[in-house]
Amino acid sequence: MAEFTVSTPKRNVILDITGEIDLRIPKDLECGICHVICPHTTAGITVNENADPAVKHDILEKLAHLIPHDETYYQHDEENSDAHLKAILTGFSLALPVKNGKLSLGTWQGVYFCEYDGPRIRKVRLFFQKAEE
Ligand code: ZN
Repeated sequence: MAEFTVSTPKRNVILDITGEIDLRIPKDLECGICHVICPHTTAGITVNENADPAVKHDILEKLAHLIPHDETYYQHDEENSDAHLKAILTGFSLALPVKNGKLSLGTWQGVYFCEYDGPRIRKVRLFFQKAEE
C-alpha cells in the first residue's frame, strides 16, 4: 500500500496525478492491478484525456451546469451538497492495469483527481495486486 497527498488550489479543480501514482508502483510489479482510492466524499478520481487542458475545463463547466452550488432544496447544512453529488458521478475508486512497474494507460489517458470542495489537502491511497500467472 502507498498513500500521498494532493493539495487542491481552489474549490473546483481537476489535477493530473498519473505521475504521482507511477512513482509509487513497485518496480518489480511486472503485471498487475493498481487500485486507486479517494477516501473523501466531496472529491473523486477518474481517467480521461490528459493532452488538451480544455478537457478538464469542459468537464468542470458541465458538472457546474448540471449540479449548481446553490439549489434551494438542498438540506445538507455544510453548503457543499453540489460537491457530494459531483463526487458520486466521478466515483471514488479505480482499478488500473500495471505493466513493468508503470500504469498501462492509453496514449491520451491520465488519472485525474477531481476536487469539488477545495481548497484542501486530500489523500490518495494505492493498493497493488500482482496478476495470476
Ligand atoms: Zn458535506
